[in-house]
Amino acid sequence: MRIDLHSHSTYSDGVLTPAELIERASHNRVTMLALTDHDEVGGLPEAAAAAREAGIGFVPGVEVSVTWADLTVHVVGLGIDPRNASLVHALTGIRTSRGLRAAQIAQKLGAAGIPDCLAGASRLAGDAAAIGRGHFARLLVEQGYAADTKAAFKKYLAPGKCGYVAHRWVSLRHAIGWIRGAGGHAVLAHPDRYRLAPPQMYKLLDEFKQNGGQALEIGGGLRANPQPLLRLAKNFGFSLSAGSDFHAAAKGAADLGDIPPIPHGARGLWQDREALRSAP
Ligand code: AMP
Ligand code: MN
Ligand code: MN
Ligand code: MN
Repeated sequence: MRIDLHSHSTYSDGVLTPAELIERASHNRVTMLALTDHDEVGGLPEAAAAAREAGIGFVPGVEVSVTWADLTVHVVGLGIDPRNASLVHALTGIRTSRGLRAAQIAQKLGAAGIPDCLAGASRLAGDAAAIGRGHFARLLVEQGYAADTKAAFKKYLAPGKCGYVAHRWVSLRHAIGWIRGAGGHAVLAHPDRYRLAPPQMYKLLDEFKQNGGQALEIGGGLRANPQPLLRLAKNFGFSLSAGSDFHAAAKGAADLGDIPPIPHGARGLWQDREALRSAP
């Protein structure tokens, strides 16, 4: 069994269509995949149909953008009903605010001497996707302002850089509430990437738990040393999820299905058949 419960398609900032994503997962021998686009569930029907065809277990998901203590954190919802009215309504609101942020980012980049970024990012995002920083990153690479998307983030789009806009996303409580209200499981995405000192990490996990959060995600970043996070999961009583956060095939980035080995005896969300419904 090879699972991957965190991935992106062209419906957010991934480069593969949902069908292409399933094809790649199949090629990589992934047996259970979740599509978790940022604040968007539009790609789920296409992915579910392709997964059925390919004989891959499919978990409908979403990755919700949250502001916690002035920090952006991501909550993945797994096994959601993508037709749930409250969830759909909430995600529409988040994408509207995403669109407003995109205009602000473009304005800041314009002031820094890089014109017409909104049109360029919209073109790369396409109809289905709300614009993310990933689209700006690709545009900056295309226009020769950065060698690759990582460099574009480092130079222009990361906190403190000239194209960064401090945006207010939704609260942890709301995000978890919408996910659980839609029958999903709430997973704290890539906890290692927030670079929190232990007391702050403890506070985040405590609030995540208090508000109904159920699992912590482990991914490629934890390959070298997953133990501290596994210990935290155990102490707080969280299950584990595991995902690559695949966006595009790129040097140094995890491919679909690339997740650290799961230790024996760990409580994985994917082991609970009831937890993850298999189709939207
Ligand atoms: P957004 O939700 O539009 O602010 O974009 C968040 C996304 O940007 C993440 O899901 C990643 O895909 C990408 N991202 C964030 N930071 C970096 C980074 N330092 N290097 C490359 N991609 C990044
Ligand atoms: Mn992304
Ligand atoms: Mn994320
Ligand atoms: Mn992601």
